[in-house]
Formats: sequence, structure tokens, C-alpha cells
Amino acid sequence: MNATTKTWPEVKVTLEVITRPIAPCELIMRGQGGEITVNGGSYLFSYLGEMTEEGFRVEGYHFEKPDGESYDLPEDLSSCECGDYLARVRPGGCKHIRAVRMLRERGVVA
Ligand SMILES: [Zn+2]
Repeated sequence: MNATTKTWPEVKVTLEVITRPIAPCELIMRGQGGEITVNGGSYLFSYLGEMTEEGFRVEGYHFEKPDGESYDLPEDLSSCECGDYLARVRPGGCKHIRAVRMLRERGVVA
């Protein structure tokens, strides 16, 4: 018998941006997290990366829930640390990956 990997349905995402995240820059050295909701759950959303001579280089994104649980995603959105991503194969990835894509489409994040 062949082992098959079940593919789960695409996750639906409703995204709301309450405040935009600010990448670290000369004025705000540490940057500032933005507040977003994904499917009604609120998150502090911030950039991961480092300041270089050319400016801030984005290396990933950080989602933090009010209870302190957090997930980091790399800049290429190839993975997530959440339970859904780790447990299920979905086209388009978990809601965090999809949320970052939506934030990019809306021009909220780089
Ligand atoms: Zn995730």
C-alpha cells in the first residue's frame, strides 16, 4: 500500500489591519509591531530581520497572539511554526502564510 498524504482544503482567511507594522528604520530603530486580525483572532505582527548598511533587511515575520503564543515565518513563506502548518498539507499553506501574502497584496508589508 502506498502512503498517501492527505491534502486538506485551502484555508479561508479574513484579514483586518488595525495598525500597520513598521519596519525598523532610522527613525524607529526597533520598528513597531502592527495589530492585525486573522479570522477574528488578533495578533501583534512584526518584521524579523536585521539592520544593514543598506537599511533593514526583512528575514521573516512574527505573529504573536495575546496569550503569548507566537509563530515565526521566513521571508519566503516556506514554512510556519503553527500546529496547522505542521500537521496538515494545504494548498497555499496555513492562515499565517496566507495572511502575509494578503498583507503584501494590499501593500501593507514589504
Ligand atoms: Zn501558521
